Amino acid sequence: MNIKNDALSLILEASDKKTLEEIKLQFVGRSGKLTTLLKELPKVPLERRPAIGQLANEVKEAIENAIESQESGIKNSELSRKKETIDITAPGIEPKIGHLHPMTQVISDVVDVFKGIGFQAAEGPEIETDHYNFEVLNIPKDHPSRDTQMTFYLDTKESKVTPGEIILRTQTSAMQGRVMQKIKPPVRVIVPGKNFRYEQVDASHGFEFWQVEGFCVDTHIRLTDLFGTIDYVLRKLMGQDVELKFATTNFPFVEPGVDTYMKCTVCKGKGCSFCKFAGWSEIMPAGMIHPNVLKAVGYDPQEVSGFAFAIGLSRLVTLRYRMDDLYDF
Ligand SMILES: [Zn+2]
Repeated sequence: MNIKNDALSLILEASDKKTLEEIKLQFVGRSGKLTTLLKELPKVPLERRPAIGQLANEVKEAIENAIESQESGIKNSELSRKKETIDITAPGIEPKIGHLHPMTQVISDVVDVFKGIGFQAAEGPEIETDHYNFEVLNIPKDHPSRDTQMTFYLDTKESKVTPGEIILRTQTSAMQGRVMQKIKPPVRVIVPGKNFRYEQVDASHGFEFWQVEGFCVDTHIRLTDLFGTIDYVLRKLMGQDVELKFATTNFPFVEPGVDTYMKCTVCKGKGCSFCKFAGWSEIMPAGMIHPNVLKAVGYDPQEVSGFAFAIGLSRLVTLRYRMDDLYDF
């Protein structure tokens, strides 16, 4: 039985066809160990011969089977090794390098369009003071519109700051005061950025949202300048065939206030899930800057006037890329 075990362990270790041939000769060849043993069979007492003969045949068969299966194993691994060979002349596989986030793409397009008509882009702090976020914008502490802004207040217990004075900005308009206090008119600035409101999160609301704030102050700026600017910008961004309508509205920092609606680009106004079946999407609140705001930043409302607007970027991205769920952002 040692013959069988010896043979099987050699076979399992063999890694090429030649070694296997040698093992075959060594055990079951014409002068192999097993064959030699079988030649001794006539010397064995007659009654034991059939049993030994049968055992020898079984061992022979086992060795031959093992050699065969090891052989095909070697063949397979050789084949797969051949497949792995690198063909340096083969054309390469183009790597997937991804793309900019839809929001980033839209922001950069918006900035480009505004730069074309003389606006500069500025960035402001996301952690803002109550003063710039509300007071300067004609929203004093007791103003009812503060209720709708759902503000996040920073915990200032450990500091000298009066509680409630430091917040996460609720609107990029907070930059109006910061910019206008530094620059004398003419001013043309846009501020892309993130805002934060304490909102229930669902498919169309998030606790943070992107806006591009914009404002322009100069002598003789009129409401028609605002309409022209909005019309130009939205056509550049959304296509020449966009349809717009304006409605009056009320924000404390503008007088008069204007809401811009764009006909849904998906359903052409018939109503669909993208426009929440309204046919039109509110896309750009705007208006003429309130004289109180101009005064608060040190401008003279008798000399200069201006307009301000905010573009809801999420809405722009959803309409452009036809996304119907804010979670996709
Ligand atoms: Zn629609």
